[in-house]
Amino acid sequence: MNTILNFFKNFLVLEDLPPKLAEKSKRDPIKSNEIINKIPEGATIISRPDHCVSRKQVSDHALKVLYRLRKEGFDAYLVGGCVRDLLLGREPKDFDVVTNAEPDEIADIFSNCRLIGKRFRLAHVFYGREFVEVATFRKAISDDKKEVPRLTKEGRILHDNIYGSIEEDVWRRDFTINALYYNITDFSIVDFVGGMADHQAGLIRLIGDSNERFREDPVRMLRAIRFAVKLAFKLHHDCEQAIPLNAHLLASIPAARLHDEVTKLFLSGYGVQTFEMLRQYGLFGVLFPVVEKSLSHEASHFPKMMVINALKNSDLRIAEGKPVTSYFLFAVLLWEPMQLRAKEKITKGTLESTAYYEAASEVLTQQIRRVSLPRHLALEIREVWNLQPKFDVRAGMKPHRLMSHPRFRAAYDFLLLRAQTGSASLEVAEWWTAYQVANEADQRKMTQPKQQPKSDKPKKKRIYRKKKVPAPSSSEF
Ligand code: ATP
Ligand code: MG
Repeated sequence: MNTILNFFKNFLVLEDLPPKLAEKSKRDPIKSNEIINKIPEGATIISRPDHCVSRKQVSDHALKVLYRLRKEGFDAYLVGGCVRDLLLGREPKDFDVVTNAEPDEIADIFSNCRLIGKRFRLAHVFYGREFVEVATFRKAISDDKKEVPRLTKEGRILHDNIYGSIEEDVWRRDFTINALYYNITDFSIVDFVGGMADHQAGLIRLIGDSNERFREDPVRMLRAIRFAVKLAFKLHHDCEQAIPLNAHLLASIPAARLHDEVTKLFLSGYGVQTFEMLRQYGLFGVLFPVVEKSLSHEASHFPKMMVINALKNSDLRIAEGKPVTSYFLFAVLLWEPMQLRAKEKITKGTLESTAYYEAASEVLTQQIRRVSLPRHLALEIREVWNLQPKFDVRAGMKPHRLMSHPRFRAAYDFLLLRAQTGSASLEVAEWWTAYQVANEADQRKMTQPKQQPKSDKPKKKRIYRKKKVPAPSSSEF
């Protein structure tokens, strides 16, 4: 009914507009504020006095994009994480804009715009090195065969570039708290799915049937954990039940996409809780099968402690605003599986150095199939591992040379972690801590070769014999 009404409204107004503007504004040609403020069907409107999101908290660039889209006659909203975070009084990571302008129309409006993406076509509007992401309203899966996004046989969405209205867009968002729209026209929040109530209750609830939504995009399971930890929200019962049932589907996600998600999961300041939760819901084992196997190894809990200590350290560094690197974390996670594999090889008779080399290659290759690692990260991981035995050499020039290796700092931090959890000598780690801060003279003393202890027995006199000169052979004559 609404569609028919809109059609007639559009028809009437388009006639009154100059041809070019009418063409541009055919998605929302009605310029009077009265009609622009029309309430989307089925939505609850939370007007400005009833919520805490203020324009002052929105980035100037995002505001520019929103106003410009409005000026050109399109709808423009902030949506997703920024609205969610602003409602909680947090600073959003980025501002996502959504509109009824299609990507090509957005590109026409903004000269500083680049269109990206295959699975989702998006516009990035650039301001210097920063950009605002602008998406077009999309439809959820419809019954109309022509409009169904391409799915895999498990039900995963491959392509999803079917544009729609805000009423349709909402159903393809993941969680109710991520589906709140901040309307730049009147500064209200538009809520179709009870997102505001869930926000107040601190609940992560999927829009629609949980199992179906996870099947469509299994990465949503990782997002559920990330938001639950980051916002200190609880998973809704349905969501909680559905994760272990669908966890295995993550194995079908391209490894490069999982790399991005895993990095966000572990390096956003809540690594320890995230790790525990991923394991609790059976997701960790799908992302890191070899690590999961080694963690459940009965022998000791040290490998797990090493991972937890590494995550604690990086959480602390993030809280202090210090940089963190993902290769270090991968090096920690994969260390125990690499060690186990190398030891297996050694017992089967492989030479020690070959065994470690092969084990590192095998473990990395296996892991990369599930969660990809850019080549430079894999190299850095290997370097950190390769430097570990070099810490045992503490005499001569080698310690000095080791300190100038570009990966020394990471390798030393790694040694400390190993020492804390019993897989390296505490004495060696302490020696290196002291060596780094010692002055040159003390460093020289520390690296002097140890004198052999003198024994009581009288030293045997060494007898030097003259080398025998061989008799010339007959041919030399
Ligand atoms: P943050 O940026 O803080 O990590 P976010 O919710 O903004 O969180 P984005 O990846 O920026 O996450 O996505 C923006 C919005 O797009 C989300 O809030 C959600 O509405 C929608 N969205 C993102 N990924 C998915 C997905 N896999 N399935 C459904 N909707 C999604
Ligand atoms: Mg975002």
